[in-house]
Amino acid sequence: MSGNILLVEDSMTTRKLLTFVLKGGGHTVIPAENGIEALEKIGAFDVDAIITDLNMPQMDGLEFIRTIRENVDYEKIPILLLTTEGEERGRKQGLDAGATAYLAKPIEEESFLNVVKKLLETQNHS
Ligand SMILES: [Mg+2]
Repeated sequence: MSGNILLVEDSMTTRKLLTFVLKGGGHTVIPAENGIEALEKIGAFDVDAIITDLNMPQMDGLEFIRTIRENVDYEKIPILLLTTEGEERGRKQGLDAGATAYLAKPIEEESFLNVVKKLLETQNHS
C-alpha cells in the first residue's frame, strides 16, 4: 500500500534520506521543515499519513501533533513520531498528544517502510 506522506523534519540530511526511502517504497512525499510549514501545506494535498520529527525550530512535533488532532479534517490521519535515543519523555508526550506510533532514529530502511505500511493500514480502518 502506498500513500501521500507529509514528512516534517528540520534536518535536511534526514529529510532527504527519508524522502529517498519513501519514494523507493512507492510513496509520494510532501516535505516540510517544521510544523508551521506542514500546516501551510497539508490543506493542499490529500495526506494519508504524517511522519514528524520531535525536535524542530518554530513549531516542534508535539505542538504540531496537538494542532493536527484539534482539527476535525485531520484528526484521523495516522501520525508517526520520529525520536532519537533517550527521548522517552518526548515519546510519551507524543503519544499523549495523539501520535499513532513512534520510531527511534537512526532509521533502518526496511523496518521503516514496514512501519509506514502499517501506519497507512491504520488509516484504512479508521
Ligand atoms: Mg529535529
